[in-house]
Amino acid sequence: MPRTLVTGGAGFLGSHLCEYLLKKGHHVIAMDNLSTGNTANIAHLQGEKFHFIKQDVTEYIFLAGEIDYILHFASPASPMDYLELPIQTLKVGALGTHKVLGLALEKKATVLLASTSEVYGDPLIHPQTEDYWGNVNPVGPRGVYDEAKRFAEAITMAYHRSEQHHVDAKIVRIFNTYGPRMRLKDGRAIPAFVPQALKNEPITIFGDGSQTRSFCYVDDLIEGIYRLLVSDLNEPVNIGNPNEMTIKMLAECIIELTGSKSTLSFEDLPEDDPKIRQPNIEKAQKLLGWEPKVDLSEGLKRTIDYFRTQI
Ligand code: NAD
Repeated sequence: MPRTLVTGGAGFLGSHLCEYLLKKGHHVIAMDNLSTGNTANIAHLQGEKFHFIKQDVTEYIFLAGEIDYILHFASPASPMDYLELPIQTLKVGALGTHKVLGLALEKKATVLLASTSEVYGDPLIHPQTEDYWGNVNPVGPRGVYDEAKRFAEAITMAYHRSEQHHVDAKIVRIFNTYGPRMRLKDGRAIPAFVPQALKNEPITIFGDGSQTRSFCYVDDLIEGIYRLLVSDLNEPVNIGNPNEMTIKMLAECIIELTGSKSTLSFEDLPEDDPKIRQPNIEKAQKLLGWEPKVDLSEGLKRTIDYFRTQI
């Protein structure tokens, strides 16, 4: 039975990963400092094959026994979180990734880094392919997240390339993902819009709503990540849903699905907010045989059902 460490395991994506890996027969250890995560996300997983360790991954990590896989998902992820935790975000991307790679080296484990489409910044090519180097403002407020992830990718590849270390490393570039267990009020569009729609309150859109995003349902993302984990690929792979839409279209779709009376309210666009975002997923299709299956209205219905229980 593979023994697998998931950092950030009490977060939105980490908790879904733990659940998926348990179903695949892994023994799972979730490590999390609970800065943006919550043990409620993993309460249903408690059992012989699942362990939770409350720890900051930027500190010394000691784990007895063998570890076969490490999925490094610890990091503030929503703009609201990383703007509130800028130093911690840089630390977990840099120092945390370094510690995790050291552990992978010690245990001869395969490591998978959760990177992000934010490494492309405000992209100058569309859709974004993995060979695009990005257009990131290193000194803007979002630089703490974007540059932390770019550093994390660089150190991961260095540990892989170095003859001395040669860690089996994978990098997933995750595009906007949504689903149950997202935190209410984490500042991302879907957890902001759905509760507003359910309460018939105005839906707050930043800018004029013409900026685009491509939303992937969490189950699809997790399947893609697992395929990458067990593949022999060692270079970054985009995982996301290429179904691109404007933020205004997303808000209108949520209003329709919830039968809400909400209106749209427009506020100033935050600094360096990317104007377009769409993954090119040809690499994942060709090399992992993966593509998303859950369409937006189905994924949103499942997410709306979850948020109804949270409000
Ligand atoms: P999340 O905030 O729900 O989960 C992150 C988890 O990491 C939280 O449980 C938090 O407590 C934990 N954490 C943060 N710093 C830590 C530290 N120093 N030590 C231990 N634990 C720490 O966010 P998420 O959406 O689940 O994102 C998970 C990962 O996926 C992140 O690395 C993020 O950058 C990446 N990602 C997510 C998305 C998305 O759409 N959700 C998109 C791109 C990339």
